[in-house]
Amino acid sequence: MNLVLMGLPGAGKGTQADKIVEKYGIPHISTGDMFRAAMAEGTELGLKAKSFMDKGELVPDEVTIGIVRERLNKEDCKQGFLLDGFPRTVAQADALEGILAEIGKKIDYVINIEVNQNILMERLTGRRICKNCGATYHLVFNPPTETGVCDRCGGELYQRPDDNEETVQNRLEVNMKQTQPLLDFYSEKGYLTNINGQQDIDDVYQDIDSLLKGLV
Ligand SMILES: [Zn+2]
Repeated sequence: MNLVLMGLPGAGKGTQADKIVEKYGIPHISTGDMFRAAMAEGTELGLKAKSFMDKGELVPDEVTIGIVRERLNKEDCKQGFLLDGFPRTVAQADALEGILAEIGKKIDYVINIEVNQNILMERLTGRRICKNCGATYHLVFNPPTETGVCDRCGGELYQRPDDNEETVQNRLEVNMKQTQPLLDFYSEKGYLTNINGQQDIDDVYQDIDSLLKGLV
């Protein structure tokens, strides 16, 4: 079960990844975790990645791809894996094809959780935080009893600058631009499956699960 999970911020990727991993027992390989592990182990590639990150620079593809290769060769990936956050570019996707060919594997599914932009905006801009105690609310999913007031302490709720419409819109657009060529690449290869992410969390998972059941 060799999977790549895709979806824009707010699509609910993390939640679905947790459910897949829990049921099928394959490792969830996110780019961040992979980098942290390589750095903690002090592998040559991990140290290389660290030197770039310490300078605040982007880690070059060859280093990232090397780290992915090391990770996919580990014992726990024998039965499969769930890649999340990698690949980000067509060049990386190409490299991934190469890595998998080396170890006699191929991708079974690229699962893309689709949610339209208006709904993503609503999900991503709805967070409100209490100025006083730091409690977190969401206008749609977890609204306070009284608008703008913290249930816990009566403090004033505010929106973090990161969550404002313009910033979120920007982040989504950058992500979409980056993701589209990758979706095209995987669609042409016949790996891509779009899942409707606008349903309840459990229904989204049902759709993914019926796909994965066919693999076991
Ligand atoms: Zn509060």
